[in-house]
Order: sequence, then C-alpha cells, then structure tokens
Amino acid sequence: MRLPGLGDLPLFWKLLVPFLALILVLGVLGAFFIVRDLSARAQVELDQELARRALDARSVVRDHELYLLESVNLAANLEGMSQAIAARDEASVRGLLRSVIALKDRLGFVVAADPSGRALARLPGAAPRAARWTTFGVVARAARSDTAEGVSGVLKIGGESVLAMAAPVCAGTTECSPAGVVIVGISLRDVTARATAQRSGSSVAVYDTEGGLLTAAGRADWRSSPPSVPSSGLIRRPLGPGVTAAYSALELGGRRQGTIAVSLPSSHVSSAARGAGLRFALVLLATMAGVVAVGALLSRAILAQVRPLVATNRALGSGDLDARAPVVGRDELAELAAGVNQMADKLQASVQTLEQRVEERTAEVRRLLAERSDFFAGLSHELRTPIAVVLSHADMLSEPGYEKTQRWSAQAGKTLKDSGEQLLSVVNDILELAKAEAGGIEIHAEPVRLEAVVKDVRRTIVGLAKAGGHQLSVDVPRSVPPVLADRARLRQVLLNLIDNATKYTPPGGRIELNAAVEGDAVSVRVMDTGVGIPSEAAARIFEPFYRVESIKPQLSRPSSGLGLALTKLFVEAQGGTIGVAPRPGGGSTFTFTLPLATVDR
Ligand code: ADP
Repeated sequence: MRLPGLGDLPLFWKLLVPFLALILVLGVLGAFFIVRDLSARAQVELDQELARRALDARSVVRDHELYLLESVNLAANLEGMSQAIAARDEASVRGLLRSVIALKDRLGFVVAADPSGRALARLPGAAPRAARWTTFGVVARAARSDTAEGVSGVLKIGGESVLAMAAPVCAGTTECSPAGVVIVGISLRDVTARATAQRSGSSVAVYDTEGGLLTAAGRADWRSSPPSVPSSGLIRRPLGPGVTAAYSALELGGRRQGTIAVSLPSSHVSSAARGAGLRFALVLLATMAGVVAVGALLSRAILAQVRPLVATNRALGSGDLDARAPVVGRDELAELAAGVNQMADKLQASVQTLEQRVEERTAEVRRLLAERSDFFAGLSHELRTPIAVVLSHADMLSEPGYEKTQRWSAQAGKTLKDSGEQLLSVVNDILELAKAEAGGIEIHAEPVRLEAVVKDVRRTIVGLAKAGGHQLSVDVPRSVPPVLADRARLRQVLLNLIDNATKYTPPGGRIELNAAVEGDAVSVRVMDTGVGIPSEAAARIFEPFYRVESIKPQLSRPSSGLGLALTKLFVEAQGGTIGVAPRPGGGSTFTFTLPLATVDR
C-alpha cells in the first residue's frame, strides 16, 4: 500500500503541513533544551538548598552547644556550688541546680556530681541516671580539667542520645582544683526536631562516629549508613526515590562526634522545572493552534483565488471556450489567471479558424462535387445528341418499309459523318481535358514567332470570317519578339478564340486579332463586336461544358462548352494567363499572354 505523499494532499494541507512540521520540530527541540536547562538549574538549586539546610542544621547544633556552655558555666560558677559539693550537701546542690534550671529553661537536665562521678543532685526528676557519670569520656575529661573549661559531646544514656556538656566545679581561686563536676544536656531528638522545624520539607538525622543512627527527625528513611565525610565538606547522595541527602561532619568542642545529615525531596525544586516545561508545552500548543488558524485563513484566501482558476480550467477542458478566469490583483495568481485567459483566447481563435477552414473546405468539396455532376451532365448531353442522330438513322436504314432514295442516302451519310465527327471531337476534347487535369498535357516549348503562327492559320481564320460574314483585321507585326510556346497548342488557342468570335458575332460584325509586348510577355487580344458575355457568366465560361444560356451560336454551329476550358489549360500550361473583358460599345475581348522567349524561365 502506498502512503499518501505531500503531493497527494489538497493545497490547503500542502501549505500548512510544512509549517506544522517545522514548528513541531522547533518546539520539541526547544522543549528539550529548555527542560534540560531547567533540570540542570533545578539540580543546582537543589544542591544549594541542601547546602543551606546542612549549614542551618549545624548552626542549630552550634546554638545548642553555646547554650549548654552558658548553662554549664552558670552552674559551675554558682556561688556556693563548690562548697556544697565538697560538703556533699545534696539539698544545697539541688537548690543551686534549681536556680540554673529556672534561668535556662531549654535545658533537658542538669546534674552535679562529686569528682568520682557520683551524682549529688539531678534535675528535673526525669533526668537521666548514671551510676558514675565519669564513665562518660566527656565528663571524665571535664572532671580532670584544671582549666575550668566545659567539654561537650554526645552521650548515650538509657537508650537516648543527649547533647551534653560537662565542666569542673573549681574550689581554688587562682588555679582550678576540681571539687566536682556539673553536666548539662539537651535531648538530641529535641535538637534535630528544632533543626527540622526551621525549614519545611526537611528531615535531619545524626549518626555517631561508627555510622550508627543516634536520632532522626522528619519523614525520611535514614536507616542506610552514612558515607564517610571529611571534617570540612559536604557529601550529597540520593536517600530514596525523589529524596537527596547531604552529609557533613558533626563536631562539638573541636572534636568529631559523628555525622549530621539533612534531606530534601527533589520534587521541592524540580516542580519548578516541571511547571516551566508544562508552560512551554502549552505555549507550543497555542502556537501550533495559532499557526493552523493563520495558515487556514491564508490558505482560504489563496484558495479563494485558485478555485475560479480551477473552475475555468475545467470548463475549458469540457469544451466551454467562453469560460474566462477573473483576474484579481497583480500577484502571480493574477498572472496565471491572465495566462489561462490568454490561452483560452488563442484556443477559441484557433477553433474558430479551424471551423472556418472546415466550412471553406466543405464548400470547396461541395463545389467540386457539383462541378463533377455538371461535368457528367454536360458530357452525357454532348454525347447523347450525336448518338441519338446515329441511332435514328440506323433505325431508318434497318427499316425495310422506309424508302431510301439516293438523295436521302447522301444526306443520311453526311449527317452520320457529322455526328461521328462531333462525337470524335467531344471525345478528343474530353481526353485532352482529362490528360491536362491529370497533369499529363504535353508541351514542347520553343521560341515561336507569333507572326509566323498567325501566317499558318491565316487561311483558316479568313475562311471562318468569310463564312460568317465578318470583317477580319489582323495586326501582329514582325517586330513582336518570339515567345516561348508550343507551336501546335498556340495554333489551337488562336483558332478556338477566333472560332468563338465568329460563332457569337452576328454577320457584318468585326473581328480583330492583335499582339503587343507588355513587360516580359506578349499579350494577344481577340476582339469581336458580337453579343458579349454577361458579367456574371464571365468567371465561369472557362469551366468545362459551361455555356451561357441566353447566347446561341450563329448558324446553329455546334457548341460543346469545352473549347474555352481547353484553351485556358493550354495557355496556362505554356506559362501564360487568359481572361475576358467586355468590349466598350458591345462585344468581348479575350486576352491571353505568353512569356517572351528571352525571359529566363
Ligand atoms: P462552345 O463555344 O463550344 O459552346 P466554349 O468553351 O468555346 O464552348 O465557350 C463557352 C461559352 O462561352 C459559349 O457557349 C458561349 O456562351 C460563350 N462564349 C465563348 N466565346 C464567346 C464570344 N466570343 N462571345 C460571346 N460568348 C462567347
């Protein structure tokens, strides 16, 4: 199955599809790059936010450490504290600790112990218990310290982790001789809860130096062990699906105490990228819809111009040659419409010319057919008359009862001879005509002196004039230069024309024959003062068998209507022309030309 290509689509889609494809490709590429950039930026933002939150969490721990330091200093330096511890006056110690708790209400607990680590007083009542506090390294170091400085650390007491600080209670005034030790602490859970509460979505966890989870706040799953983190620096690692964690070192009092970690859901920042991507997709869709709308309007406008063109084309194709396309504006489509109209004009003109030619040819064919019918009618008429005469005489001869006197026989013999001669003359003329029309007329052209030919036929034409009772004048001077002609045919032409002149001029009329040079030909004129030829018949007398109805030959001389047709053929075969004109004062003038023998033909 062949898939439809762009070429099969209607013009509307053909105009639109490339734009849509281009916008789609550009849109997808744009979306790809924008989403990639946004994702990269989201990642950077996520990293920055994590770093900020890790810093915040460490600041919270640092704040608490400072608070513990203040508290432990307050407790260790309370007036009477060293004496009360030295005197093991538990009631006094408790009283003093109470004032500490009253001032430092964020403290989880406060404990005062003797140098061996045994507690003298603990506040509040729910404070953690320890048989010997000096078992904790932090407390032991503080108890041994002679600088009166607090030592902080993370203690694990009774299943709970505590951010604690211990400081010696000094007895001496100049140098510290420890009388005991005070310990203050805040639950590590409270510290992480505060760190978590600082920023929404966060979760904070604290691990010990072995990677064991001490406490965690928030909703993240912190069970996986932390990476080993250098004392300065931050390690980022995915904590679970869509959650990233940042791990940093937890140091208290300049000592490494473990690892503090914060987590943040990636969705927190990637939602911005998603939002931007979505907005871009919407803009892309809106752009595509806009392009379709604008393209549709454009296509519609173009199609509105194209449709009449298509309709005109169809109409022309189906034969309506009057159809024309409207030419709107001056753009390429207007040019196309004008071109189609121009083509239609030419087509219409060609068709009209063709029709005219067909009409002309049809008329010509009709005329030729009519001529042929006339020819055969004339022929049969010419043949029928002498044949009828021959048959009637044959009947009389074969009729035994018909008396054949000698005189009748002589008369019948002459009549039969005349008819035979007439038949022979017609048949000869027909043969000549047929030969001539088939292009087979034989012409032996040679330089011929007209005066000499006239001399040859002079006796005959004088006899013809005499018999008709006409005056004859011949003016063909010796000075007329020779013509290029067939002597026998030229003689025939002259005799035909003179014979006709005598045939159609009443007795007493005048017949003239003259010749003169005209240009590079010799014009020969045969003029008579006879009955003349009606102007409407003048054009047809050269057609075979044509005779003017109203004109009858003198003395009932035979007339076949073939003489002038043959004359014309002979003249033209010798390179000349022939025509007839009325003679002023009555009669006709036949003029024919023959080329001069000197003319190079
Ligand atoms: P034909 O003379 O045998 O009838 P032609 O072909 O010689 O045939 O002449 C055709 C017709 O032209 C004649 O029948 C006649 O009507 C007319 N015609 C020819 N010559 C003359 C003439 N000199 N004067 C008047 N009519 C003529």
